Order: sequence, then structure tokens, then C-alpha cells
Amino acid sequence: MTLRPRSIRVRLAIWYAAALAAIVVAFALGIYLFVRSSLLREVDAQLERDLATVSRVLREEPFEINELAQHGSVEFFQVSQGNEVVAETPGWSREVLEKALAGLPHGPGRSWRSHSGQAFRIRSVVLPGAGQSRVVAVAESEQTLRTSLESIGMILLFGIPIAVVLAVAGGYFLAGRVLNPIEEITALAGAITAERLSERLPVDNPGDEFGRLAQMLNGTFARLEDSFERLRRFSADASHELRTPLTALRSVGEVGLQRELDAAGCREVIASMLEETDRLTKLVDCLLTLSRGDAGGLTVTRVRVDLAEMAADAVDMIGVLAEEKGQVIELEAGAGVCAMVNPEMLRQALINLLDNAVKYSPPGRIDLRVYRTERGEAALEVQDQGPGIAREHQELIFDRFYRADPGRSREQGGAGLGLAITRQAVELNGGRIQLESEAGQGCRFTILFPLV
Ligand code: ADP
Repeated sequence: MTLRPRSIRVRLAIWYAAALAAIVVAFALGIYLFVRSSLLREVDAQLERDLATVSRVLREEPFEINELAQHGSVEFFQVSQGNEVVAETPGWSREVLEKALAGLPHGPGRSWRSHSGQAFRIRSVVLPGAGQSRVVAVAESEQTLRTSLESIGMILLFGIPIAVVLAVAGGYFLAGRVLNPIEEITALAGAITAERLSERLPVDNPGDEFGRLAQMLNGTFARLEDSFERLRRFSADASHELRTPLTALRSVGEVGLQRELDAAGCREVIASMLEETDRLTKLVDCLLTLSRGDAGGLTVTRVRVDLAEMAADAVDMIGVLAEEKGQVIELEAGAGVCAMVNPEMLRQALINLLDNAVKYSPPGRIDLRVYRTERGEAALEVQDQGPGIAREHQELIFDRFYRADPGRSREQGGAGLGLAITRQAVELNGGRIQLESEAGQGCRFTILFPLV
């Protein structure tokens, strides 16, 4: 089991305190060692001075050495020759400091604790002489050094836990302050439900991390709101569109029932009802096509398609309709203009465009061109001589159920889904569609795919 506090605030406070404790401990240890070595150096320097004094007296005034031992400035020293003590201070004999020399080599200063419990720093040297060489040993009390180190140690020992406790409290408080905006964002975001998607989080400072988080969430809410709104509109529009043929179907049926009809009359009623059913079926087919495309899971099998052949096919299919309306579809197709697309989907898209051109244009000519663009794309272009589409409608014309001229379009049997299906089919195949039009001067729809 791992102990992992659930709250980020607690985790931050712990991390902060742990990091601070590690730094303080390392710093304290550094200070302690530095002070200790400085104090030791000072004591050692004093030992050197004492040693120099004793050596100088020994060298220059050897008979004064006892006088130095009894009344001199050096508190602890001893001079010995072989096993015989030549001179020693009262302090030296009182503390029995020669024990510190026993068995130890002469040389640099070393610490030693006397029988009375006092700590000393001792240094001894061998002075070569004419006869037997003499040993000079000096000592300095380490009491001051130890007292200072103990005081520092105590300060650090009590100071560090207090600092750590303060760090935990401070860290907890700071983490709370830092994380406060998150609490607010969580509470506000939690209150935004599907019905209140128009609400947004306040962004106090767009440049900082919380500001960016709030902006990102606001962006997500905006997209969600947009999707919800479109879904709502789509359902409302779809029900409305389905209602019209259903109402017609019902009233044709009712009128038929109310009248005494002969066989020909019955056939007429049935034919009207079938016409409405046909309309319904087409509408439902369109809705199904769109929702399949929306689902995202649709796998589009794409093959290399010669666009000239596809255009000729489409002209064959729409040609009869055009003829009925006194229109001619002129096909101008360059050779070898190919794209990787799903043929059924692209055929449907092209037929929708041609169908619209036939539906909305007066008798005359409709141009269908297949070519490669200067930017190296494969293009399919449908141009008519119809009423065109005003600028304000051009952005919306590919939206579902959008009609530039609702009365006229409905009259022609359109539900406003053809261009939505066309755009979806083109985009699912990796292409794009564009419209150039001026009101009163016809439309030019161009489908573009990467050339292969
Ligand atoms: P519909 O089934 O109503 O034709 P579309 O999605 O195919 O639906 O077209 C949307 C609207 O765009 C149509 O209602 C019509 O007003 C306008 N439109 C489409 N194509 C043309 C065109 N070639 N000329 C004029 N208007 C057009």
C-alpha cells in the first residue's frame, strides 16, 4: 500500500517541507562543520604560538624554562628528555596531561579528554639537541570551542524542527492560496450543466496557468454548446420536415375516404400518397446518410477514380431531367484527372450539385468541367446560369436544412440537405468544396481533391 494523500494541497505542503528540511539540514551541517574547523584552526594557531614561545626560551634561555612554567603566559606545557621531566606547568601536572602523549606519535594537534573531564588540544614536537633530544608538548583547553559548538548544535537541533513545522504550515497555507482558483473553477465548472452551457468561467488572468485552463474549458463549453445547439436545431428541423409529407399523406387519405371514388379516383389518391411516401423515403435516406457520416466510425473505401468518367456517368443520369427543363449539360473533361475517392459518395455529391443546377436554373446551359488546377489539384466544377446565391447565404448554404429561398426550394421538393450531404461526402474523402456566386449571375461550385 502506498501512502499518497489525495489532496494536492497536502502533497504540495509535504514536498515543500521535505525539500526545505533537506536544504536546512544540509546548510546547518555545513555551518556546523565550518565553525568547528575555524575554531580548531584558531586553537591550533594558539598551540603553534605556545610551542614557539617554549622552544625559543629553551633555545635562548634554557635556565628560565622553569620560571616560564611557573609564572609564564603558557598555561599548559611540558618539556621532557628521555623519561625525565625537565619542566612542566602546574596545570599540566594537575590535569595529568602526559597521559595524552603516551603511545601517540608526535605531530599535529589532536583532541584529548583529561581525567577531570576537560577537553584539551595537544601538540608535541621533538627538538633535536646535542645529547638526548627533548620533547616539548603544549596543550590548550578546548572548553570554549566545545561550548560554542554545543550552543550552535542546540540552536540548530531545536531550530530545524521549528523551521520544518513552520514550513509545513506555510506550505499548506501557500498551496491553499495557489490552488484556490482550481477550487473555484471546479465549483463553477461543476455547476455548468447541459441546460446552462452558455455560462462561462471567469478568466482573471488569461496569461497564467489557471487563466489558460479556464480559457480551455470555456472553449470546450463553447464547442459543446455549439454541438448541442446544432443537434437541437437538427432535430427540430428534421421533425418539421418529416411532418410536412406526413400531414400531406394524412390529408390526401382523409379526403379520399370522405369522397365516393371510382377506380380511377382511388388510383389518383394512391398515386398522391405514394408521391408523399417517396418524398418521406428520400428525406429519411438523406438523414441516414448524414448521421452515418457524423458517427465518425464510417470507413470510406477510397480507390483511384478518373473524374472525367465519373462526370460522364453523372451527366447520363441527370441529362433526362435537364432535357425536360430545356437545359443542356456541357461536359468538358481533361484526360487523366484522377483522385483517390469513394466513387459512390463522390457520384452522389456531383449529382446533388447537378440536380440543384437543373432545379434552380432557367432553360439554358449548365457547364460541367473536369480539370487540374494550377495548384495541382483535381477539380470538378458545376456552373449554371441560374439566380445565383446572395453573399449572406453563401456561408450557410452547406448547413443542414438551410434554404436560401425556402418557398421556392420546397416547391422543388428540396429539404435543404443536398449541399450538406455533398460537403460531408467531399470532406470525408479528403477534399473541399467552394462556391463562387453573385446574386443573379449563376453559381459555380468546385470540388477539389489532391491529384493522384
Ligand atoms: P435543397 O434540397 O433545398 O436544394 P440544398 O442543400 O441542395 O437543398 O441547397 C440548399 C439551398 O441552396 C437551396 O434551397 C437553394 O436555395 C440554394 N441553392 C443550391 N444550389 C443552388 C443553385 N445552383 N442555384 C441557386 N440556388 C441554389
